Amino acid sequence: MSKILIIEDEEAIAELEKDYLELSGFEVEVEDNGTTGLARALSEDFDLFILDLMLPGIDGFEICRQIRDKKNTPILMVSARKDDIDKIRGLGLGADDYITKPFSPSELVARVKAHLARYERLIGDGLPQNDVIEIRGLKIDKTARRVWVNDEEKTLTTKEFDLLTFLASNPNHVYTKDELFKEIWDMESVGDIATVTVHIKKIREKIEYDSSKPQYIETIWGVGYRFKI
Ligand code: CA
Repeated sequence: MSKILIIEDEEAIAELEKDYLELSGFEVEVEDNGTTGLARALSEDFDLFILDLMLPGIDGFEICRQIRDKKNTPILMVSARKDDIDKIRGLGLGADDYITKPFSPSELVARVKAHLARYERLIGDGLPQNDVIEIRGLKIDKTARRVWVNDEEKTLTTKEFDLLTFLASNPNHVYTKDELFKEIWDMESVGDIATVTVHIKKIREKIEYDSSKPQYIETIWGVGYRFKI
């Protein structure tokens, strides 16, 4: 079920929009001010945003700009004034559609459906997506088993790749060398926890700007390592 966030301070309008969208089978959340609306828009997964222009806290222009910085989710902007709509267009904020108040609820629903369908076609296109981790310039393609730092590809051995990927897939979790050895190497394999230290050192030489001040894999003295996020 598609999930929609309405950011609208006029309760009657928000309720009307919500009722009609829910009747059409959408899951709908409402925020009545710009600050909490923006925070939720950025931190949660929604399939479409309906955004009022004049809002307490942060206005719709700024919310639109900040959402577009981070996400391609469709944004439908709502305003009471036709010239506001022209302004939004002029600013090139990346809104997908504009609707002026008063509007008919069925028109709103029709536009929402059209944008969701278009967006689903867009993201559904092409081949299945590779499983990729991206953190501060470091990109790990788990499917293709390739690593880049600031778009420069780095060559890692199988175990280096497995170790880095394991740590990066479990960020902020501190692992002992013993745990890492058991996770990445077979229990029966020849070697000991010093192998882990050697591999961490090699990974750092490949991915860190300065391996004496690691940005990604942090040493927790007396315990082990963790991937910082
Ligand atoms: Ca308003």
